[in-house]
Amino acid sequence: MRKPTSWWEANPGRLQWEIDWLEWLGVSLVSQTADEEAGLLRMCLRVPDSYTGIGELPLDVTFPQAYPFAEPVVVAPSLALAHHQHPFAKNLCLLTRGVGTLAPDGDGSIGHDGWEPGMSLAGLLRDQLRDVIELGQGSGVTDREARQGEPFAVYYSYEPISVVLVDSLWGPFKTGESGAMELDVYGAVSFADHQRTVLLVCELDRGASDAVRMPEAITRFWAETAASIPCNGRWVYLDDPVMSGDPEEVWLAAARADAGSPTTQHSNGVDFEARLVGFPEEHGPGVSGTGWLLVIRRRPGTQAAGNRAQRRRQQLPGTKPQPWTYHLIRAVRTGEKDIRARVPRNLEDLSHKSALIIGVGALGSVVAEQLARNGIRSMFLMDRDVMEPGNAARHACTTTESGLPKASGVASLVRRINPFIQVGASNLSVGAVISVPSDHADFIERISTTDILIDASADLPTQRLTAELAQRAGKDWVSVHGTNGAWAGEVVAVPAGADWCYGCYLAALGNGGLPRLPADQEEWWQPVGCAEPTFVGSSIDLTEIALLAVRTAAGMLAGRQQSGVYSVRTREADGVPIMPMFEHTPITQQDTCGKHRSS
Ligand SMILES: [Zn+2]
Repeated sequence: MRKPTSWWEANPGRLQWEIDWLEWLGVSLVSQTADEEAGLLRMCLRVPDSYTGIGELPLDVTFPQAYPFAEPVVVAPSLALAHHQHPFAKNLCLLTRGVGTLAPDGDGSIGHDGWEPGMSLAGLLRDQLRDVIELGQGSGVTDREARQGEPFAVYYSYEPISVVLVDSLWGPFKTGESGAMELDVYGAVSFADHQRTVLLVCELDRGASDAVRMPEAITRFWAETAASIPCNGRWVYLDDPVMSGDPEEVWLAAARADAGSPTTQHSNGVDFEARLVGFPEEHGPGVSGTGWLLVIRRRPGTQAAGNRAQRRRQQLPGTKPQPWTYHLIRAVRTGEKDIRARVPRNLEDLSHKSALIIGVGALGSVVAEQLARNGIRSMFLMDRDVMEPGNAARHACTTTESGLPKASGVASLVRRINPFIQVGASNLSVGAVISVPSDHADFIERISTTDILIDASADLPTQRLTAELAQRAGKDWVSVHGTNGAWAGEVVAVPAGADWCYGCYLAALGNGGLPRLPADQEEWWQPVGCAEPTFVGSSIDLTEIALLAVRTAAGMLAGRQQSGVYSVRTREADGVPIMPMFEHTPITQQDTCGKHRSS
């Protein structure tokens, strides 16, 4: 493979420009080394007192391969700042983190506080270094600092892909508090490449106080996905995070603060022990919370287990055990509040609303998926179809769900998105004659207990039936269907208590009172092995139609007035793709509606 040209070879003027700037500011360039292999350029600098406020300061700077698109990394080995410096790697935080996105300002210009390719290292040191040192030595947040917290847990180096699951609602804890911990362990505890281990904290014992527990929705969800082994570990809450990135040092610090010892677990030829370490950390500007990390120590097993070959590799009883290896595991938060945290406030109402969705095909599956992502409390899904691998071309599910009833497949997807959602599924056909009378009674009962009925069956007789049943029960009703080829789609919203009905919509359609939507003239076709023909249509167009339906339904659930027909066109009359065009047509009572005929 050809080695890519380094930035300083491709643009020697840029390097000279950086050097000239440093010289002009009076910063001495002690040494400069080019690592051609890695594509990195390193500089050792001495920065004068005028830019530090604490005397001359040595800095190690690394220009990354992606310079000048990415910023130089500035390390101050002799400094130990409380803020704005990595406690172990010692690099300084001279710019706001996480502002790589372009955020249009109110005045229409594009601006952000991060690194820009036009900036120089010298300019960065001149404008930021003194402030960062001064603020980094102090405590608390000032107006001169970026409005973001510095959670300490991000500074540690963790085993890749393995995690420990906690809930941010736990705490507050007292310094030195410790106790027994129950863990469920999913995976081999090997931490070898591609060997993922998920460790679920089930319970932290707090002596006289109530134990903290993982919500049952989460323990049940994980228990349904795979088999686990239980593990009895220890937890401790320290007054400060451990100031070492060495996993063994973290283990020893936790052990010193905890009178108890974890139980050694034996599994798959491995012995291991677990300690969960909590500490105060910043979760926002001036907001403190609990940081967590898990330390696992493991070694080849001392108990006979596995097959004969595995046993032979293990040590015999009585021989000296092999030394422990120590591993840091990153904590991720999986409480109900954590899973909902990114959903905007104006959709908060969804967290105590329910939906009944009829039909979870190309349209209904996306509606269910989106309601789940936005944290609806519960949903019930009905569809008589079975998932084919080819359905994945325009369905929220994937080939993994092949052969499952679509309703069960989407229910499983919903649980994977948010395990706190109560979701049920049925493969009953709503439009057909229901042979078991109790099933029909169940269906009527479901309508009476739901907040909204969403009919995504795209089937006229089914829509007539569900619209009538919803109106009788006084429930909001939304339907969604596409025209042939999904060149356009319609969402009909009949709010509870409306003085018009689904029949009025059909009458308005017949009277030419609604926009004429483009449709493909192609015949339907029958996929190999399928009992019924289907239409040709792209997920690009179908998803747009489904999003209009879920936008309408979410609006109704959040208490906004939605009524009439919402349409979207994604194609011209000749089938040429266009930017989606939306239109709203109110519906009023129609004289030609069978139900509202004026006599
Ligand atoms: Zn009517």
